[in-house]
Amino acid sequence: MSETRSHERPTCEVCQKSGATTVAKYTRSPWPVVACNTCGFVYLGRVPDYEDLSVNLAWEKQHAEEKARRKKTNKLARFDALTRFRLKFGKVVDRVRHARAVGAGGRVLEIGCGGATRIPEGPTPYGIEISEGLSKKARPIFEARGGAVHHEPATTGIEKFPESFFDSIIMRSYLEHEAQPRLILERAFRRLKPGGTILLRSPNYNSANRFIMGSEWCGFRFPDHVNYFTPRSLKALAQSIGYEFRWMNRMSLFDDNLIVELRKPKQRAVEAPLASAYAETAV
Ligand SMILES: [Zn+2]
Repeated sequence: MSETRSHERPTCEVCQKSGATTVAKYTRSPWPVVACNTCGFVYLGRVPDYEDLSVNLAWEKQHAEEKARRKKTNKLARFDALTRFRLKFGKVVDRVRHARAVGAGGRVLEIGCGGATRIPEGPTPYGIEISEGLSKKARPIFEARGGAVHHEPATTGIEKFPESFFDSIIMRSYLEHEAQPRLILERAFRRLKPGGTILLRSPNYNSANRFIMGSEWCGFRFPDHVNYFTPRSLKALAQSIGYEFRWMNRMSLFDDNLIVELRKPKQRAVEAPLASAYAETAV
């Protein structure tokens, strides 16, 4: 098997400062879990290159391997069975949330769509999927509803679409995999219509279950989960780009995931300082 190509991440994606300390108890060699020295955001200090996520480290392969590994090593199997039950229940709640987040019409983008779509009937679905195998499965499903699927890293795939194109974007179990979450959220911001929303679900590093399960917490996946957001760090990242942040499951203490809605404000005021910042760097 070919060796995984990887690179170090130079700065924290939340506060954009360099300097981080290894969190030894969660690190699984050669993938260092680090905490930003400035803001405390936890992330993988070294990440696989995008090319390897297409085939070698494709999600569907990693998922099967991780499942087998957990079966062998999990000392807290009963806790884990409970987790699985909650995950199944969570899927029903999830479907209801998607139906609410997505309007009856318009255009919806699903980043990391996998081999199918979770977008309910009504709007035109578009997808981006980095796994070659899954994108092939998804393509005819999206095309049958008038949409399209791009097999690419999300950061470049999203540039295939015009500005202010989408009514909503679904990032479900995607942002924890993305080595450049700031870049994708900036690009998504420009492609959302004013008032458009992102429905985002990602493991919550501050979930009660992480404290119970420790390094066996289901949010840890090496090397495919590269960001470990908390409500605070995700809010800071989103607001620094211009989004309004709404935490949707703050009452569910034992949820492993963070579910939030990011809204592009209807007024375009936030775009003025962004535009001038770009102009300054261009000079
Ligand atoms: Zn930071």
